[in-house]
Amino acid sequence: MLKEDCLFCKIIEGKIPSTKVYEDDKMLVFKDIEPKAKVHLLAVPKDHFKLLADMNASQAELLKYMLEKIPSIAAENGCEKGFRLVINQGEDAGQSVFHLHIHILGGQTLPWE
Ligand code: 5GP
Ligand code: ZN
Repeated sequence: MLKEDCLFCKIIEGKIPSTKVYEDDKMLVFKDIEPKAKVHLLAVPKDHFKLLADMNASQAELLKYMLEKIPSIAAENGCEKGFRLVINQGEDAGQSVFHLHIHILGGQTLPWE
């Protein structure tokens, strides 16, 4: 998929509105439009790539940066008691947006199914 057709690139560029909770030059965190938990945020790198398998060295550094940032962003947005991270990859996982993103789920006791 071309970057130009990517929903999350459009959200990053502000062409599609979103409820942002954190932004810096490397990443954006916004509320999922169809929350699957009391708190459901999406953390996206500003650099477009689809899969962990596609990631180059600088994108891997970017992911590390995001993982370092996420605990405080989660705590500031209602996940003081914990959270779960999910990265859906490919068809079997039901990945529907082909720009790598980390789901941050919390704000409640999370079921494990
Ligand atoms: P995936 O299924 O690819 O792991 O996750 C995509 C997520 O993006 C879903 O949880 C879905 O609810 C969310 N989503 C899809 N379209 C939009 C949108 O336009 N705005 C926001 N904020 N979230 C979206
Ligand atoms: Zn994108």
